[in-house]
Amino acid sequence: MDTTGPWMRASQAAGLLVDGEARPTVFAQMSAKAVATGALNLGQGFPDDDPPAVVADAAIAAIRAGRNQYPPGLGELELREAVARHQAQWYGLHWDPETEVLATTGATEALAATMLALLEPGDEVVTLEPFYDQYAALIALAGGVHRTVPISSRTDEAGDLVLDVAEDDLRAAFTDRTRMVLLNTPHNPTGLMLWVGAMQAIVEEAIAHDALIVTDEVYEHLTFGPAHLPIATLPGAQDRTVSISSAGKTFSVTGWKIGWVTARPELVTAILGAKQWLTYSSGAPFQPAVAAGLAMPPAAFHDLAQDLRGRRDLLTDGLRSIGFRVSVPEAGYFAVADAASLGEPDAAALCERLPGEAGVVGIPLSAFYRDGHAGEASSYLRLAFCKDRPTLERSLERLEAWAAPRR
Ligand code: PMP
Ligand code: GLN
Repeated sequence: MDTTGPWMRASQAAGLLVDGEARPTVFAQMSAKAVATGALNLGQGFPDDDPPAVVADAAIAAIRAGRNQYPPGLGELELREAVARHQAQWYGLHWDPETEVLATTGATEALAATMLALLEPGDEVVTLEPFYDQYAALIALAGGVHRTVPISSRTDEAGDLVLDVAEDDLRAAFTDRTRMVLLNTPHNPTGLMLWVGAMQAIVEEAIAHDALIVTDEVYEHLTFGPAHLPIATLPGAQDRTVSISSAGKTFSVTGWKIGWVTARPELVTAILGAKQWLTYSSGAPFQPAVAAGLAMPPAAFHDLAQDLRGRRDLLTDGLRSIGFRVSVPEAGYFAVADAASLGEPDAAALCERLPGEAGVVGIPLSAFYRDGHAGEASSYLRLAFCKDRPTLERSLERLEAWAAPRR
């Protein structure tokens, strides 16, 4: 077979193939490195925690009760009702579970179906940069044009790294061809939570350019300070916003792949139109289990976030005393550490060596940028603190031993 035909070139152009091979995600690549070297994996963002008992028990009960066949394409009504109740209780957002909620195979499929359903070739899509790697791949698959708004960094009085986005830069990214703005707050990889002024500017620009807002909120409950504020709650936003979330992070079940979309009925119908040809329907027994999780009392969500906050502090305090400049994120699974202060200006090269040299895996922040865009972030790495305390403590000991001769 001719593997250089136009179809192969198209996959290559979309970044799906590199030199005739499927391009692995940076997460798969670095997790494989952790397994191969026996290094501690602070790379891929999956927790060591078990799900809350009520969630695990509900999944087991659903399997035992025979809920193992295709559920409806839109999702089980009890999950759609639980999502609607959750959005009303936490954010005051009201959605009709019959027509405005769609269950998906993780946020990953929700994002894919949304982009495939709602973008035409040539449409411009605005994202922050750095961005979760799937976004660039999906924009390319849908034939869209990716425009980015930089998250910039500075050092505060305490010597920590502060990451932020400027309202002027957000506004400047919109053009006559902007069809969609794809946000992620709380943000992977930086843990940044967009402030209300920035979100207001985005809503204004989206209205002015008649663009859709798609918001990826998978870290909505993993906040360590101010609570998450969905952009759909801002005046004028709800009718043009597709909100996406998932159970993976909130309930420590990244392998279950249950996510959901909330949006107006016409948008949900269009996204379902794509979703049904991707997976048709999603994880039958996990849907009632996630519904049980979403109904947990608020204190249970807060306890999970507080526990994670303690591990954030353990990692960031430790990295700081080892000599990294660190950002202390407001949310999510990840801290950003600058290795320049330890004589390492190239984090991509460092992350290749670190498993062997220190026995720790991290992800270079450059993996979340378009080629040549990382700039000042070239010396930054992302380290996950969703791991258990012993893993974090041992990682810090190893990094300390590695860094000591460099200070
Ligand atoms: N969006 C972001 C920002 C993520 O970090 C992730 C991965 N954890 C996803 C989407 C994918 O979520 P899911 O595992 O539910 O598909
Ligand atoms: N979201 C996870 C991370 O950022 C990885 C998900 C994946 O491997 N696709 O590490």
